[in-house]
Amino acid sequence: MKICCIGCGYVGLVAGICLADMGNDVICIDVDVAKIQNLQHGIIPIYEPGLKDMLNRNAREKRIVFSTNLKEGIQKSKVIFIAVGTPPDAHNCADTSAIFSVAKDIGRYINGYKVIVNKSTAPIGTLEKIGKIIQSTQSKPVKYDLVSNPEFMREGEAIKDFTNPDRIVIGVQNDKAKNIMTSIYSGISRTDKPIMFTDIRSAELIKYASNAMLATRISFMNEMAQLCEKVGGDIKEIAKGIGLDSRIGHRFLQAGVGYGGSCFPKDVKALVQIMKANDVDAKILTAVDEVNEQQKRSLIHKIKKLVPVLKGKCIAIWGLAFKPKTDDMREAPSISIIRQLQKEGAKITAFDPEAQETAKKILKDVTYCNDPYSTIAGCDALVIVTEWNEFRDLDLKKVKRLLRLPNIIDGRNMYNPQEMEKLGFNYLCVGRKC
Ligand code: NAD
Repeated sequence: MKICCIGCGYVGLVAGICLADMGNDVICIDVDVAKIQNLQHGIIPIYEPGLKDMLNRNAREKRIVFSTNLKEGIQKSKVIFIAVGTPPDAHNCADTSAIFSVAKDIGRYINGYKVIVNKSTAPIGTLEKIGKIIQSTQSKPVKYDLVSNPEFMREGEAIKDFTNPDRIVIGVQNDKAKNIMTSIYSGISRTDKPIMFTDIRSAELIKYASNAMLATRISFMNEMAQLCEKVGGDIKEIAKGIGLDSRIGHRFLQAGVGYGGSCFPKDVKALVQIMKANDVDAKILTAVDEVNEQQKRSLIHKIKKLVPVLKGKCIAIWGLAFKPKTDDMREAPSISIIRQLQKEGAKITAFDPEAQETAKKILKDVTYCNDPYSTIAGCDALVIVTEWNEFRDLDLKKVKRLLRLPNIIDGRNMYNPQEMEKLGFNYLCVGRKC
């Protein structure tokens, strides 16, 4: 199958490379000239485990090429995946301008039957709008089919998620497009990992509803953690106890510093706006968002419990990315936490195994260090914001020696509170007796 992937970000790049690995001929397009030039030389713009090797293998086998030539990409392909960004606009709605700009170009250059697949997360009705734009920009009528195929991959696990997904959701209008999509995913779908065919609007809404449900679980557990801190109880035990109920399950029950990243915050907010625009009172999701903001602020209160006056104090931060195994800093809780600490006069040192280069563009006046130990030397407190595995098995006695004061505020519950107490730390974590 000849496939064009438009947008070489986390989603488009992973999709393009994985589709090439499945034997398709893929042309990946982006407007970012520098990104395309790097990709042509095998340099990938993101940190994603295993992606570079997979790219090199498929580039060698000539199954994947990178270009800024959208016309060529569209005209040479039978299936066009749209995977451009949909960041929040000033009103917290999804900004679909990049999708619609691509739709205009598809209309302009379409030269024969194509299946146009939207992978970007976009409001219900976006695919219909794409169709209208294509129709209005075509010079002569050419047939095409529209498909909604939302993406559920997680950064850090993206290859595994793309090639071994829980499900593939495809919104289609007819059997022709359904058969083409089935053949693209034939290497992946099995009876236990089904393709779920549905109507287009349901597919668009499934994506938002999935992310909103996961965010709801996180905010619910963060609220339970706040209660544990008042009445006693250990949020890790609560998570285990409720997760053993097969109706609930164990995943997405970790309390912490709140969710971040390029999807949950913006998609929850966008779904609230979609609901408002349709006169549906988004009571639950408004609260989910509020609890998340509150949770980020609660870490500052904990830091101040141990370091009441922040002015002139040195605070070390372990972990900057919004979660481990990615360099993505979009909406990372570390951003608001560090900015607040700086506002109150603290000096910040920080370490992240992968996100440091991205962080440097966002967070100024931070001393970035090369390893966890040098980050904490002489500091008044250590704050753990992202639970990288690198922080699990460190020499805690050395950590205590290096810190000026033995204060640890662990936003991710990485350590055992009793052991930390025995080691002589002032240790505060989330929803546990510390
Ligand atoms: P991203 O910002 O990393 O990448 C988007 C890419 O599109 C950029 O490289 C940009 O240069 C390119 N682009 C923008 N306008 C273009 C145009 N007119 N023509 C060609 N290229 C253009 O975004 P992402 O994280 O890959 O997300 C893409 C979509 O997928 C979003 O809607 C997002 O919500 C959704 N999504 C993201 C994830 C994730 O984990 N990142 C997971 C599931 C779904």
